[in-house]
Amino acid sequence: MRPVPPPRAALRLAGLTAVLLAASALPTRTAPPRAKNVILMVGDGMGFSYVTAARLAKGGVGGPPLSFETLERFGYQWTFSSNGLIADSAATSSAWACGAKFANGALCWFHDGRPAPSSLLDLARASGRATGLVATSTITHATPAAFGASVPHRECEPEIARQYLADAKPDLLLGGGRARFQSPAKDACGGGGADYLELAKRAGYAVVTTAAELRAANGPGKLLGLFAAEGMTRVQARPPGTTEPTLAEMTGAALSRLAQDRDGFFLMVEGSQIDWGGHENDLGYAVSELLAFDDAVRVVQDWIAARRDRAAETLLIVLADHETGGLSLVGPADRPAGNGPLAATPRWATTGHTAADAPIWSSGPGSAALGGLIDNTKIYEVVRGALGK
Ligand SMILES: [Zn+2]
Repeated sequence: MRPVPPPRAALRLAGLTAVLLAASALPTRTAPPRAKNVILMVGDGMGFSYVTAARLAKGGVGGPPLSFETLERFGYQWTFSSNGLIADSAATSSAWACGAKFANGALCWFHDGRPAPSSLLDLARASGRATGLVATSTITHATPAAFGASVPHRECEPEIARQYLADAKPDLLLGGGRARFQSPAKDACGGGGADYLELAKRAGYAVVTTAAELRAANGPGKLLGLFAAEGMTRVQARPPGTTEPTLAEMTGAALSRLAQDRDGFFLMVEGSQIDWGGHENDLGYAVSELLAFDDAVRVVQDWIAARRDRAAETLLIVLADHETGGLSLVGPADRPAGNGPLAATPRWATTGHTAADAPIWSSGPGSAALGGLIDNTKIYEVVRGALGK
């Protein structure tokens, strides 16, 4: 039952008291730090053991840190979803994008059938910033999807594609998943059965399908890059002369386009297949994807360092959504420091996800709130504050 509202006079008095109390207690609250640009970089499934394994694979025992390990702050987050201790990427990405706990499989979509009001991408767009999503999975996969769509089931990728183009309208979408934009069949959410590449062109998107076309796409307007029918080819399997851009190349292209907006931008970049290596219990797969993800972070760090004002106006968050596989590194135990790159010996607990907390590296305005333990929904609060919304 709702409480009976107090009469207006009492409300005015209460309001006056509140104002006086607030004035006498100043300064109690300061506005959250603002950031012109927000860049969220997701290593999907990237538990801490993956980071150790990738560092060993690159520089061996005692070797240098990965690029994102050099960011100013480190913290970690609880990852549980609204219906389980062990979360999937839909629930975790929705927690970041929409600021609440959601069920596994749902994308910014509540139990009772309501879509969440607006995602961080929506808020960024409403503030005048440019927006972009980049992934090595289908671009309609769970992690990017939470930022640009609201659906009850993550499998509704054609509907997610439709919502991107009809509703969220990011300035840039780069990844795999061409087939999701040309699905002959309807999905469970009512999407599909139409050529969304035509819809994209009508909505003002230039459509590119190769790395060369991406490099040549210098025109103004929105950009849709779909470089594979399904997920992009894993790093290990890419032939010389592949037409697919690397994650670092997609990230660089995103930065040079989005940074032209004087109001700033919001960009989400996902190293999607670290998780897929984990599901296959294939450490080589996961590590090669993680190192490619770290290359993309390096591109962002170099972009920030290239101009003096950028560090003070850019919030960079690098984080995992959950851990995959229950990865432990159990050897080789007798390898001393300084002997070069090392393939660690993995032991896996599962082919699914685990309940382990997920790490966060960050720098820039707003990152002070991310330097310890947080719930994953706090990412939404911090970014929302940084966007000034
Ligand atoms: Zn997964």
